Amino acid sequence: MAELPQKYFVIYHAKSKRNIEKFSDKEEALLRKAELEKKHKRIAFVENGIIYPINEEMEHKKNELWCPYEGSWRKFKTDPIRKVQVCSYCGISDSDYYVRKENNLFGKLK
Ligand SMILES: [Zn+2]
Repeated sequence: MAELPQKYFVIYHAKSKRNIEKFSDKEEALLRKAELEKKHKRIAFVENGIIYPINEEMEHKKNELWCPYEGSWRKFKTDPIRKVQVCSYCGISDSDYYVRKENNLFGKLK
């Protein structure tokens, strides 16, 4: 039997290190996420291949960007190594096509 692709990602930050766990089963991934939430902050759940369109109705702050991989408004902060703005939860950068597209960042000066 072919192995299922690991398309669900649970990303969490522990001791300021970013950890990614991959799952092929959604239920399993969500259970793990719930478990991690008891101990850690800033947990992201990403389903590979799914892009959430921007939701302006959802409450958010002015300085937050829409993270299309999580379907949430997130604060983006500068990654000291890559010198780009990254989602403080899942780590996607603002140079990503869908992040730019959903937040209408094309043509905007940095
Ligand atoms: Zn994110």
